[in-house]
Amino acid sequence: MKDLLGGKGAGLAEMTNAGLPTPPGFTITTEACNDYFEAGKTLPAGLWEDVLEAVKAVETGTGKGFGDPRNPLLVSVRSGAKFSMPGMMDTVLNLGLNEQTLEGLVALTGNERFGWDAYRRFIQMFGRIVMGVDGERFEHPLQARKDLHGPGAKDTDLTVDDLKALVAVSKQVVAEDAGREFPTDPDEQLDLAIKAVFASWFGKRANDYRNSQKIAHDLGTAVNVVTMVYGNMGDDSGTGVAFTRDPNTGEKLLYGEYLVNAQGEDVVAGIRTPEKISHLAEEMPEAYAEFQRIANQLEKHYKDVQDLEFTIERGKLYMLQTRSAKRTAAAAVKIAVDMVGEGLIDRREAVGRIEPAQVDQLLRDQFDPIARKAAKQIAKGLNASPGAAVGRAVFNADVAVEWVARGETVVLVRVETSPDDFHGMAVAQGILTARGGATSHAAVVARQIGKPCVAGCAELVVDYATRTARSTVSGTDLAEGDWISVDGSTGEVFLGALPTVSARFEDQPELQTVLGWADEIRRLQIWTNADKPEEAAQARSYGAQGIGLCRTEHMFREGERLEIVRGAILVANAATRAKAKTAAGEALDVDEAAVVAQFDAAMDKLEVLQQGDFEGILAAMSGLPVVVRLIDPPLHEFLPNLEEQLVKVTKAGDAATAEDRELLATIRSMHEQNPMLGLRGCRLGLMIPDFVKIQTRAILNAAVAVKRAGKDPRPEIMIPLVGHVNELIATRALLDAEAEAVVAKAGETIDFKFGTMIEIPRAVWVADQIAEHAEFFSFGTNDLTQMTFGYSRDDAEGGFLLKYVEDGILPENPFQTLDDVIADEMQMAVDRGRAARPGLKVGICGEHGGDPASIHKCEKIGLNYVSCSPFRIPVARLAAAQAAMSDGAFRDK
Ligand code: ADP
Ligand code: MG
Ligand code: MG
Repeated sequence: MKDLLGGKGAGLAEMTNAGLPTPPGFTITTEACNDYFEAGKTLPAGLWEDVLEAVKAVETGTGKGFGDPRNPLLVSVRSGAKFSMPGMMDTVLNLGLNEQTLEGLVALTGNERFGWDAYRRFIQMFGRIVMGVDGERFEHPLQARKDLHGPGAKDTDLTVDDLKALVAVSKQVVAEDAGREFPTDPDEQLDLAIKAVFASWFGKRANDYRNSQKIAHDLGTAVNVVTMVYGNMGDDSGTGVAFTRDPNTGEKLLYGEYLVNAQGEDVVAGIRTPEKISHLAEEMPEAYAEFQRIANQLEKHYKDVQDLEFTIERGKLYMLQTRSAKRTAAAAVKIAVDMVGEGLIDRREAVGRIEPAQVDQLLRDQFDPIARKAAKQIAKGLNASPGAAVGRAVFNADVAVEWVARGETVVLVRVETSPDDFHGMAVAQGILTARGGATSHAAVVARQIGKPCVAGCAELVVDYATRTARSTVSGTDLAEGDWISVDGSTGEVFLGALPTVSARFEDQPELQTVLGWADEIRRLQIWTNADKPEEAAQARSYGAQGIGLCRTEHMFREGERLEIVRGAILVANAATRAKAKTAAGEALDVDEAAVVAQFDAAMDKLEVLQQGDFEGILAAMSGLPVVVRLIDPPLHEFLPNLEEQLVKVTKAGDAATAEDRELLATIRSMHEQNPMLGLRGCRLGLMIPDFVKIQTRAILNAAVAVKRAGKDPRPEIMIPLVGHVNELIATRALLDAEAEAVVAKAGETIDFKFGTMIEIPRAVWVADQIAEHAEFFSFGTNDLTQMTFGYSRDDAEGGFLLKYVEDGILPENPFQTLDDVIADEMQMAVDRGRAARPGLKVGICGEHGGDPASIHKCEKIGLNYVSCSPFRIPVARLAAAQAAMSDGAFRDK
């Protein structure tokens, strides 16, 4: 139903069917919108006639006449797409008004002021939204009129004469700016408004929003025409917005705001500061009780938290909208868990409802509590969307985009936001507004896109012209570019950039509950990439079921080790040659023997250090597999930079030390044009076998030690960068011998495996041959992507790649989300590998292992596990469960 009627239309239709009080109306379908564009922006044949007929039905239902001066029917024209698109097109209210119907409205209500206010609003709204007049043009005369009533005067202070004058001025503005008189014929008004809604589908705001949310551009929007009801007919009338549960915390209570004697947008636009919904129980107890009952009924019906709009006209309640509420990550989790407890939904449904990004958000940083105590609080507003944001203040959405493009981080500061600011909000760290409540545009959008937001910070006087803001309470001045820290969880704003601390997973039992349910559903295991025992322990606490990638080279860089490694590299080639001589039965000269001794001494030290590292990590992961990758990067990464060393030696001239000269010579001799395609991975192990031999010994001796300490070590040794099966065969010949020697000497049985990474396209083609010699596969999708595309990742990501994505040459960054062709390669490797070795265990350890969309692809390919960085594990657990469910939360955007 949503496909055709849009979200709003479907909600209205269901409420009407359920017998709830909704004003009569009708919906023009999304199909009509698509036909409209297909036909070159003309209404499809028969549509207008259908509209007129539907208007007749509404006339019959309400007993009013569209354009009837004695008893006028007035309507709102509202856009409504399948997915809610906040503010795609503003709603036009009071359509059908002209000088004649206005008289009828005044006579019927006996309220002249009300009538003229409605007319004034209509001309301004219609002028702005349908006729394209700049809204500012109406603001000035309005403000001027208000000023006549003294400083701080409100809309409600305007008299009938004021309103009449405003109507005249507004009509004049329309005539000047739109180049035509304001249309008086209600039918023409309706025709123009419908077309304006259609046109808004391809407006900039809507396009930007769809791009950012990855919503398809061909869905089209529906148009809802709804009989007007009035919340501004006096103190027994009002209008409001409410959620069936608190969208910030998830707490089960009606949460929302309303304004007495106000219409439509007043609450959302933050024009006056609204009352809490609970207060309505005192002001209009009957209407409140009915609203509460309806809210309950709708939540039960939709089995989800609803976001409701209502209007009370002279004590009578009307429902204007119901839809699933946007909510914070914390609320999403709490609500899902609570609703399972209430028996409203089952566990699968609960798991399907939480978006992976929300889990991410829950593990997002907070301000460091000590720094925050010492910080200078400059203002306080509403805690509209939680989280900690730090950035430089900017006062304009375009400026925000510019600054971020040149590498700045910003907080967007506005009086209030409108849909035109969306692009700025999307790039900002956080949002701060001076006006508007917890349901204002800024708040709603911020929650949805997961940005911290402080709204309604009334003490902040924002001046766009000078790009400054001043807090009237603290007296602090803020200029464009000043660092501020915004706490969306408390509403506080601080001067300067406060340090943040990460949110603790341990403190979130509800999240753990949902992820526990996800674990029951998912098929994929979640492993982690961790190099150190602390990381391994942390990952385990997040639910890691193994280590998919332990990089040994990180261990080579720390402290004293780098010196040892360098010492070894300096003589590595010479020593390896000398050892070959010895092996061939030739004698070594004194120099050669010295080089071998120096090399072996360094290697011995390394072996001891590495064994210690592995003992730590194997003990931390006792009972779980730990994939250790043998040395992978080119050796020059452990040496000083060629240019720097050259400068050093040249500058020193004759005074340069022999050591420095020798180092320079070594760096030169190891220099490669394309090191990422050069001597690295298994190639390095084959050229200088001692590196991988000592690593293998260190891993297995560590396993022996850990086992003797009563634990259960499960090392899996991974040989990187294999492209030809002979590389693997030769490496294994070397390492199997080492392994046998360790095991024989220890007299222990050790549970270990040898496997390989699949990261070179050639390996994909010969995966069956490789599988004969590998007990497991792990996809190194960073290299596989790099080599399949022929992009150097380090150069591409900082350069043309972003532009490619921006220009739509690539649908997304293939280093972030698995490209379909890479996924096909993986499928081929899995199929061939398992054909040769049934039951072959296959995982992924590239960056993609923590990306939800990529995890879906891994599920389809039939991997055994994905491996990601420790802090992505909770996200991956959820994404894997959703991937396993055919009815997962992934929407058909
Ligand atoms: P949005 O999609 O931005 O929420 P809506 O179409 O829901 O836009 O309407 C904007 C505002 O106008 C809301 O506050 C809504 O309650 C109000 N409104 C819409 N139609 C009517 C109507 N027929 N009578 C009274 N108020 C209305
Ligand atoms: Mg609405
Ligand atoms: Mg690699």
